[in-house]
Order: sequence, then structure tokens, then C-alpha cells
Amino acid sequence: MSNNHEEAGTPVARPTREEAEEAVRTLIRWAGDDPAREGLLDTPSRVVRSYDEFFAGYRSDPADILARTFSEVGGYDEMIVMNDIRFESHCEHHMAPIIGKVHIGYLPDQRVVGISKLARLVDVFAKRLQIQEKMTTDIADTLQRVLQPRGVAVVIEASHQCMTTRGVHKPGTSLVTSRMLGAFRENPATRREFLGMLGLGDGRGAANR
Ligand SMILES: [Zn+2]
Repeated sequence: MSNNHEEAGTPVARPTREEAEEAVRTLIRWAGDDPAREGLLDTPSRVVRSYDEFFAGYRSDPADILARTFSEVGGYDEMIVMNDIRFESHCEHHMAPIIGKVHIGYLPDQRVVGISKLARLVDVFAKRLQIQEKMTTDIADTLQRVLQPRGVAVVIEASHQCMTTRGVHKPGTSLVTSRMLGAFRENPATRREFLGMLGLGDGRGAANR
């Protein structure tokens, strides 16, 4: 199974490491410095290696991470919530860091997944060029599609360095996005219970989508 969001991660013709390093030298010259200066000599290779880490998510399939589920839930049918999953991502508009946390809740139906898998799922989407709204939707929709629970809720709170260190320079601001599916969308009591567990009240102020 795949969807448009995952196809966005389809590898395009990848430049060589040397080409990538040359591009970094170009950006250093664009910033106004000399890439041949001693302190900058190893910078292009360091930047390119950092990119391997920052953008590792393009090399993983999110559905694979959730492939192993557990059906022996002992009749447990209450909400499962994992909150404060810290992530680092990069905005696709400025390639500037986005740092924040993801809160995930779901109401299982037969299948549950190990909690470390939820954290890995977040990382696969975070370690790509992102828009926070899209990342929120992608995490929720993948959980819904693979686990087929009775409902999924995803809330992301994050600070965008393209807003805090440049442009409008508004440090301390954070963007909150959410996606509610199934019972979380249809049942206000379920949604309230989840948001209450996050200390977000009734969710007013969160961009419910
Ligand atoms: Zn940005």
C-alpha cells in the first residue's frame, strides 16, 4: 500500500557525495566566506554527513515499522497514549530546524504496536523535509491504515527556527497542529479525554483538522 505522501519520499536521482560537497562550497561562497579557508576545509564533508542523519527518513518505509503488531491485548480496549515524543525535523521552505514533540493516542481494535515503534514512526517522517501539518496527517493516517484502530489522534507542538531565528524573529512561539480520526473525531468525550491527558483542555487553540 502506498499513498501520495509516501511517494514524496521516493528517491530521485541522487547526486554524488562530491557533487553535494561542491554545493556546500557554493553556499559558503554565497554566505560571503572562502571555502578554501582552513577552518572551512572539512565543512562540506561534515555537512553532507549531517544530511545523512537529518534526512534518514527517506530511506525507511513507515508502514514497515508498524508491520509487526501484537494481537494478544488481553481484552484491553482503552485509549493508548504516548506523549512528549521529541523530534527534530527541517521545514521544507527554508530547510531550517523544526523542534518539537508529538503526542499520539489510539483506541486499539485487535492490534497494538510496541511503543518504541511509535517513536520510530515519528522519526521516519521527521527526518525528511517537512511541513508540520503534513507530518501530523502522515503519522495519523499511517497508524489508521496499518493498525486499523477505532480511532487515532495526533497532536504536534513545535517551534520553527525559520520563525525564531530569521524572518519575523518571534522566539517562544510554537505551532500546534492536530489530526483526529474515528472515535477521536466523532466523540467529543474521547477527544476531551485525550486532550486532557496532554493538558491541552478541550483542544481550543489546536488547529483541529
Ligand atoms: Zn520554514
